[in-house]
Amino acid sequence: MTASPDRLRRALRQQLESLEAAGAKQLPRPSVAVLAHAEIEAPADLRCSIAPALEALRLEVAACTRCGELARTRTQTVFGVGDPGARLCFMGEAPGADEDRQGEPFVGRAGQLLNRIIEACRLRREDVYILNTIKCRPPNNRKPAPEEAANCRRFLDRQLELIKPQFICCLGAVAAQNLLGTTESIGRLRGRVHPFGDIKVVCTYHPAYLLRNPSAKKQTWDDMKLLMRQMGTPVD
Ligand code: SF4
Repeated sequence: MTASPDRLRRALRQQLESLEAAGAKQLPRPSVAVLAHAEIEAPADLRCSIAPALEALRLEVAACTRCGELARTRTQTVFGVGDPGARLCFMGEAPGADEDRQGEPFVGRAGQLLNRIIEACRLRREDVYILNTIKCRPPNNRKPAPEEAANCRRFLDRQLELIKPQFICCLGAVAAQNLLGTTESIGRLRGRVHPFGDIKVVCTYHPAYLLRNPSAKKQTWDDMKLLMRQMGTPVD
C-alpha cells in the first residue's frame, strides 16, 4: 500500500524522534532502494517506529508509584491499546475492575458499547488507539483525584506526542475536563469541536453513562457524526 505524503511526513518525523530519544546524533544517507521501500511500507514503518518508544513509556508507567494509594491497590497499570499510528484516539477516565484485571482499557460492558460506537463510525477497535486519563484503577471506581490526574498527565501527554493523533474523542467529563483544562460540564462541552494544539477534540458521554442512561445515546451518535464529518468519513 502506498502512503499519502502526509502519512509519510508523520512517519518520518516520528521515526526521527524515536532515534533522537534513543541517542542518535546523525543519520546515514539512505539509498534510493531504501527510500523506495519506505514509500511502499510507510504505514508499517510508522507503527514500528512508534512502538519501541511507546513500549518504553509503558514500562515506565508500569513502575510508577506516584499515586501511593493507586499504586498499592492496583493489580496492574493499564497503559493503552490500539494502532500506535492511529488518526483517532478515544480517551476515557480511568481503568475499572475489568480493565485492572486484564490490563487493557474498555474491556467490560462499557468497552463493548465503545466497540459498537467505533464500528458505527466505520472503524474497528484496532484502527484507533484507546487510552485513559490515568493509568491505575481508583479504588471502588471513584473518580480520579485532581492530584492523581496531574501526576499522570506527563504520561498522557507523552503518549499523545508519540501517537500524534489528528482527532481525540473524550469520553465523559473527567477526560474532557482534564485534557482541555476546563471545568465546563460534559453537556456543554459536547456537540462542538475543541482545539488541543493541532488536534481536533470532540467530547461525548462516557459509555458507562450511556449504559445507565440509554436515552443519551442519540446525543452521542450526533457527536460521532460530527467527528466523522471532521475526519472526512461519509455520514448517512
Ligand atoms: S495513576 Fe499514573 S501517576 Fe498515578 S501511580 Fe498510576 S501511573 Fe503513576
